[in-house]
Amino acid sequence: MQSPTLLHLLTRMDIKSQTTESRETEAECGDAKEEKRGQTIVWRNVVLMALLHLAAVYALQLIPRAHPFTWIWSYVCFLITGLGITAGAHRLWSHRSYKAKFPLRMFLAAANSMAFQVGRCFYFVVVIISVLWALFRYFRSLGWLWDNPLLFKLLYLCAVLFRYYKLSVVMMCFVVPTLVPWYFWDESIWNSYFLPGILRYTICLNCTWLVNSAAHIYGNRPYDKYINPRENCLVTFGAMGEGFHNFHHTFPFDYSASEFGLRLNPTTCFIDFMCLLGLASNRKKATPEMIKSRKLRTGDGSA
Ligand SMILES: [Zn+2]
Ligand SMILES: [Zn+2]
Repeated sequence: MQSPTLLHLLTRMDIKSQTTESRETEAECGDAKEEKRGQTIVWRNVVLMALLHLAAVYALQLIPRAHPFTWIWSYVCFLITGLGITAGAHRLWSHRSYKAKFPLRMFLAAANSMAFQVGRCFYFVVVIISVLWALFRYFRSLGWLWDNPLLFKLLYLCAVLFRYYKLSVVMMCFVVPTLVPWYFWDESIWNSYFLPGILRYTICLNCTWLVNSAAHIYGNRPYDKYINPRENCLVTFGAMGEGFHNFHHTFPFDYSASEFGLRLNPTTCFIDFMCLLGLASNRKKATPEMIKSRKLRTGDGSA
């Protein structure tokens, strides 16, 4: 996964030991010691995360008092957020393990805003849009763009997106999840904010961190015993099919991130369904022969 672990969030590593998706395997293979050397605690994040988790604990006791539709809505928000990370940021944009058409990409981008996780993708978007914004301002001052309405509109849209990127994240992560129960079934604004907003967001964050922590520590390594990532059933449940982590690091191009396809893998179900609708295509998959020979060569013999 591209998003950081809790440790990454609460501490600042020196540049050399920062891990990114492309260096995922090598960095996670055995450089944990290197990471520990250069880290300092980022107190601002410690305080923010502590407050967020306190609010989430408070939200737990609101559950029995909330409308059943609010429970369902919170779970729907959890699923959408999860898909934004797993089917969007991870399997589509990080690994390009399948192709998605424009409407699906838009949905995944919105879903990813709901996840409110700043990663490499964020910096990429910011850089691209900054350049467009600069161009927009430059050409507008020259009067050139006014004569090219379509280009103007496109650049303006990008500029607006950049200008309001953070706003869109806040909208998707907190405002929309809060307004829906309040507007449609008269849930109190308080419950609407704390359950599908704060509690759902905190659980999503923790599930993501589990992929990068628990799934690197606990579990077996049937595909490659020389790397840290492991097969972890618990993480698979929480992270919508991302717990087959030894497999994923061995075959990162596989769209299913698992040898077992649909089994325990809601993200794979979603991508397959999108293919059925014609919104996704070109799913890459490791062949059974590849998997078998890799298991024999580097597996730990556990499966
Ligand atoms: Zn990955
Ligand atoms: Zn990993």
